[in-house]
Amino acid sequence: TERIVIVGSGQAGFEAAVSLRSHGFAGSITLIGDEPGVPYQRPPLSKAYLHSEPDRDSLALRPSQYFDEHRITLACGKPVVHIDRDNQRVELIDATTVEYDHLILATGARNRTLPVPGADLPGVHYLRTAAEAESLTASMAACTSLVVIGAGFIGLEVAAAARKKGIEVTVVEAMPRPMARALSEAMSEYFSTAHTDHGVEMRLSTGVEEIIAADGRAAGVATSTGDVIRADAVVVGIGVLPNIEQAALAGLQVDNGIVVDEYLRTGDPHISAIGDCAAYPIAGSAGLVRLESVQNAVDQARCIAGQITGSATKYHSVPWFWSEQYESKLQMTGLTTGADTHVVRGSVDSGAFSIFCFAGDRLLGVESVNKPRDHMAARKILASDMPLTPAQAADTTFDLKQAIA
Ligand code: FAD
Repeated sequence: TERIVIVGSGQAGFEAAVSLRSHGFAGSITLIGDEPGVPYQRPPLSKAYLHSEPDRDSLALRPSQYFDEHRITLACGKPVVHIDRDNQRVELIDATTVEYDHLILATGARNRTLPVPGADLPGVHYLRTAAEAESLTASMAACTSLVVIGAGFIGLEVAAAARKKGIEVTVVEAMPRPMARALSEAMSEYFSTAHTDHGVEMRLSTGVEEIIAADGRAAGVATSTGDVIRADAVVVGIGVLPNIEQAALAGLQVDNGIVVDEYLRTGDPHISAIGDCAAYPIAGSAGLVRLESVQNAVDQARCIAGQITGSATKYHSVPWFWSEQYESKLQMTGLTTGADTHVVRGSVDSGAFSIFCFAGDRLLGVESVNKPRDHMAARKILASDMPLTPAQAADTTFDLKQAIA
């Protein structure tokens, strides 16, 4: 393999390029992205970046000279519009083509848009890119009230940032509890209370029918419960859709993600997919999963770089993720869908505790708040497949490290 082309210059695409070089890959690397500028990290966009003066350099994963020094050709601001598998090349919007021996698809995901009247009014914000974060920061500087639609991680991080600025915040969520897709009921409850305690009005089990306008701008929302909530701006955080259309047009299999095997390869041996856009089989779980996290993007990128430069190894990392809301740092590891037993370790009231999620006696994952040691131990336990019983998890005198030793 001489020529690697990577489509998408986000966390996964960037890491694949870096990792190829650190594994000693000597051929050409072309990293193509449709956003302008050098690759940058997204997690701060809903956290610290909302509190600071816009400074793209602080987000950059590496300064621009890094790419020159490592002979990584960065083609920014130019989307790939066609994958030509027969001729092993991709076509960019400016009609240039780049040939590959191996193609890595790292196209990530885009915001799911709200399908209601008024959703495209000025003053309605989404949050995926640095440009969107800057627009939201400017809007928040001028507003006294905000409606957040969607109580997922991004929506709730924005709610916390807005409260810190003294903005009145209402969160509207269709599900009966926040972050319901990802967290146990008890953890949802903890964060729901944290937001209420910080002055957020949580409207759960409530849909949005319309974004109402005043003077041509968003001025609030009309809810499914018949209420009108007025606000100076609206943030929509209702999840993402994977960018899979080009892969599908090229005849690759897609299923809520570009389908890959345990080696992260698509049905075409010359094409892999990694990060938010990839749907892959995970040990111990039926069907395919598509994860949206920095860990998943980075570890998959490293795995594919290792395979290109060395021998085929299956992808088998333990997933982990974090979020920050007020003084609570949440860290999660494992996949907890299907958990039927939840064990609390520590005291919820103290604001530092973990919830161990089991299916029967099998540990599926752990959610920790301000307990980085529990989180790190849990990652090791899950990676080593060591047995840990619910009783041991609940017993704070039981040293978790013992389970790994
Ligand atoms: P992306 O970062 O989406 O990058 C894909 C890139 O490919 C994009 O620039 C896209 O525009 C580009 N692209 C798509 N199609 C084409 C094309 N045809 N041609 C060229 N380019 C294309 N994760 C955590 O673990 N912890 C957090 O706290 C956390 N916070 C987050 C906060 C926010 C506001 C957001 C948006 C995400 C957060 N995440 C967090 C998730 C994490 O950032 C993503 O999982 C990660 O960025 C995925 O990397 P990726 O490279 O797969 O996709």
